Amino acid sequence: MVGFLIAGIVIFSIVIVVCVILLIRLSGKETLLMEVSNRYLKDIGKDYNKDTFAMAIYELYRDIIDGVQNERYEFLRDVLSDEIYNSYLRGIKLSKDHQVKNIVADMKPTFSRLVSLIIKGDMEVAKVWIRVSFLEYALDVTPLTEEQKQVVKGDRIVGGSKTRRLEKEYILTLVKAHTPKESVACPSCGHVTHVVLRNQCTRCGSNIANRRYHWVMIGKEEKPLSQIVK
Ligand SMILES: [Zn+2]
Repeated sequence: MVGFLIAGIVIFSIVIVVCVILLIRLSGKETLLMEVSNRYLKDIGKDYNKDTFAMAIYELYRDIIDGVQNERYEFLRDVLSDEIYNSYLRGIKLSKDHQVKNIVADMKPTFSRLVSLIIKGDMEVAKVWIRVSFLEYALDVTPLTEEQKQVVKGDRIVGGSKTRRLEKEYILTLVKAHTPKESVACPSCGHVTHVVLRNQCTRCGSNIANRRYHWVMIGKEEKPLSQIVK
């Protein structure tokens, strides 16, 4: 009972933290939901199409959620704005203080769409509309005494569900410095990365682009579920 209450407090606090992130407002809703065309991407000098980009951003988002659960701070620092990084950090600390571990598992994309990509001066700003389904639950991780260990078997779930899937939609905002040529060839192994998401070659792990020159997530706004059926 107490565990359930604590989980409630933790989840409520996380909601507050997420709301703070959502303060980054977006402009007109109508233009927002129009998908960017491949023709447009080609015109502004991109080597990738809208689907490749949108899926890469979905994968980045999934890795961020995984990074939060597994406390991959160095990775999170590289791919998030300071504001979002700090809010995730507060969430992690809060959960630890309450000896609760929040799990997001088996995430799948329902869709991922590039709805805006503009070049503003020396910056590029992209907005990606994603809908994801996943399992979310909280585990009580309070250490057990030897006696309790005899009685308690398996996970101690104190919130959410391991079987009931949730669906959510977000508008993710990402920025990077504008570069005339998008693709980066790894200095060590030559592998070419088209959508640069972090300072690491996906093949050999060498540094390929510092934080300014790869996409960094600076905004995440939850959106009511749309009626779109896919
Ligand atoms: Zn490499």
